[in-house]
Amino acid sequence: MPVQGNTIDFDLARVKLGQTCSQRRRNGKPNITLQDTRRELTQTLQTSLELERVLGMFYDALRELLYIDGLEYRHTGAASPILHGHYGIHRCSYRMSHAGDYLGELQLSRQTRFDEAELVSIEGLLATLLFPLRNALLYREALTCALNDALTGAGNRLALNQNLERDIRSSKRSGQPLSLLVLDVDHFKSVNDNYGHAYGDEALKAVVDCVTATLRNVDGLYRLGGEEFVVLLNNTDADACNLVAERIRQSIEQLQFQIDGQPLPMTASLGHATLRPTDDARSLLDRADQRMYAAKRNGRNQVVGEE
Ligand code: GH3
Ligand code: MG
Ligand code: MG
Repeated sequence: MPVQGNTIDFDLARVKLGQTCSQRRRNGKPNITLQDTRRELTQTLQTSLELERVLGMFYDALRELLYIDGLEYRHTGAASPILHGHYGIHRCSYRMSHAGDYLGELQLSRQTRFDEAELVSIEGLLATLLFPLRNALLYREALTCALNDALTGAGNRLALNQNLERDIRSSKRSGQPLSLLVLDVDHFKSVNDNYGHAYGDEALKAVVDCVTATLRNVDGLYRLGGEEFVVLLNNTDADACNLVAERIRQSIEQLQFQIDGQPLPMTASLGHATLRPTDDARSLLDRADQRMYAAKRNGRNQVVGEE
């Protein structure tokens, strides 16, 4: 696959762009289109802090100036790349940095080769992306810190409250079922007591990874506190939720977590509830929680759901 690779340090790029523009001015051939697009883009890119939206606006502006089929953005901090358009055979890529900070990798692609003048235009426009991109990355980081549990990476209580309210509203509007399950690790205190808190932390992370692996991308996993978690399942009725809960229970039971080479068997008790017309977030959570406690009373390592 032909890739024209570049590393762009935004500071150097701006210097280079400045030279290019003044050279053009000396030659009496100001490139109005590029300048106009730059000016416009500088303003539009300020209108959002969302990474995907910022890149989308950049992509649209670029397409007004040049023929481009797709834009792909990758960052080591994100699991999957952001893609606008679709991939083409010829690619030019930029590893972006500013003042030593890594800002991700941008790849533009299309069916024909990029020529030198086009690469200059692209670099010129890339300079407008610097601060909006850096701000969007900072915003994403701040959101991640605000909405995720630092130890396990699961969503935190704030994220659960926000998403549960939103999903209840949307379920009542659309008529699609909404279920949630509460999960509590069994006898977890003894893990801490026998092996220490640091190993307890590792065990909790292993449980979260294990549960995450059994879920669909759209399902949300949240840490309610301690060793208690909530899974939010959209478009899922009680029967389907029961299957998910049972699958989670089994995968934790089969999780081969080890401490110093010694296997540490773990189990969890789960309760689930499906939204009723009279429910709000509190009553739905309470019902699932009570059933989780019923699963504890019944002997642990089991699921209790709708009658
Ligand atoms: P049960 O089967 O009834 O749920 O018993 P349990 O021991 O799991 O329940 P209990 O609520 O008595 O104990 C929960 C323990 O979880 C107590 C606390 O030390 C531990 N725990 C809570 N949060 C963390 C954490 O972030 N890290 C570690 N290592 N342990 C934690
Ligand atoms: Mg417990
Ligand atoms: Mg507990």
